[in-house]
Amino acid sequence: MRPVRFDVRFDELKEPEDGEKIEIIDGRLSVPDNPVIPYIEGDGIGPDITNVARKVISAAVEKAYSGRKRVVWLEIFAGEKGKKRYGDFLPDDTLNAIRHYKVALKGPLTTPVGGGYRSLNVTIRQVLDLYACVRPVYYIPGVPSPVKHPEKMDIVIFRENTEDVYAGIEWRAGSQEALKVIDFMKNEFGIEIRPDSGIGLKPMSKFGTKRLVKKAVNYAVEMGRKSVTIVHKGNVMKYTEGAFRDWAYEVCREEFGDKTITEDELFSEYGGSQPEGKVVIKDRIADNMFQQLLTRTDEYDVLAMPNLDGDYMSDAAAGQIGGLGIAPGANIGDYIGVFEATHGTAPKYAGLDRVNPSSIILSGMMMLEHIGWKDAAGLIFEGLKKTIEQKTVTYDLERQMEGATRVKTSEFGECIIRNIY
Ligand code: NAP
Repeated sequence: MRPVRFDVRFDELKEPEDGEKIEIIDGRLSVPDNPVIPYIEGDGIGPDITNVARKVISAAVEKAYSGRKRVVWLEIFAGEKGKKRYGDFLPDDTLNAIRHYKVALKGPLTTPVGGGYRSLNVTIRQVLDLYACVRPVYYIPGVPSPVKHPEKMDIVIFRENTEDVYAGIEWRAGSQEALKVIDFMKNEFGIEIRPDSGIGLKPMSKFGTKRLVKKAVNYAVEMGRKSVTIVHKGNVMKYTEGAFRDWAYEVCREEFGDKTITEDELFSEYGGSQPEGKVVIKDRIADNMFQQLLTRTDEYDVLAMPNLDGDYMSDAAAGQIGGLGIAPGANIGDYIGVFEATHGTAPKYAGLDRVNPSSIILSGMMMLEHIGWKDAAGLIFEGLKKTIEQKTVTYDLERQMEGATRVKTSEFGECIIRNIY
């Protein structure tokens, strides 16, 4: 079958001659031994962590495949560097390069609060239709945690990434648009909204919900996970979050009927004991889910949820296993994946070679799993785990660990590489 083509033309970017692009053949990624992988350094601490991550990833690939495979890195520009080089915080070249090469590694980008330009992170997700934000949350032994049993956490959150109140449909209080909507609501539906209100819309579609849930259930089936929990706030927002739950069950019935059972069926038909090869589909209301993650952590596995719920829950879950500095994440569409640090730009630490690069390193590990380079991914995990066991850690972990040695960002990366070799 012919590869699916995303034809692009770059303004400035030069395609590396020693690398090839990942293709899509028969609906799957076809990865050469020398794939070009674009990366965005990011703002603030971005350069400190991204470049360390690239070194660790390259070293793991070299070791895993004895030099037969390698990543050909291509820098692409966004944020401050994009503005400097292209006069644009998010140049077309950057979006086109991600489209063209299919996977990218991304450092954090600054987002102004309450005005200025729109979040570049949100824009990247929307323009490239990266509809699933995937955040695995698991414990690495030795990492300081605020809970007694952090090792009970081993979940993967699939957060819808393009809809909900994050769709970016909102108007400032007093703006013509806001006043027009307020008028419309009054005239058409007799609904009174205070005239000094800012207005935002919360669209959630059947299409958007189903493709997200499908990705989550597919993952659970392929990885032999036990359950998928649909998280929502449908008791209050019935026609958005409530519909999310209903559409989620619908897609499970339609597409995974032989591979899934509901929690009700688990008890009514199987006496509470999970049959081999079936994933249990359950649902929880979001506020309850927050406390369940703390009190019954190991009863949860894969979670699928709308955008805003997922944003909060991903960080709360990460807090339980030691915080954002250590939690990886990816934004994935049908074919394209952007793998990124889950924390922000921490501007006060920019350029100090001080912060923890684990989040982006583990995101890089996810990236290697995504392209099927699982041996290299495994080496990264083992190298990082050993480095933390040896208590050679960056300031954030050192301040909470007894007897630990504080190292710089770059030194932490070097320790991982030493442990890989
Ligand atoms: P932040 O950059 O994540 O930093 C908040 C605090 O978290 C830091 O002061 C630091 O805590 C800790 N931290 C973050 N990254 C760390 C690391 N790698 N190692 C160790 N500690 C780390 O959050 P923020 O200050 O709210 O946001 C700053 C900017 O980043 C904003 O413009 C925001 O919009 C943007 N942002 C971008 C993304 C993204 O690109 N995906 C995501 C979130 C935020 P201590 O001070 O306690 O050491």
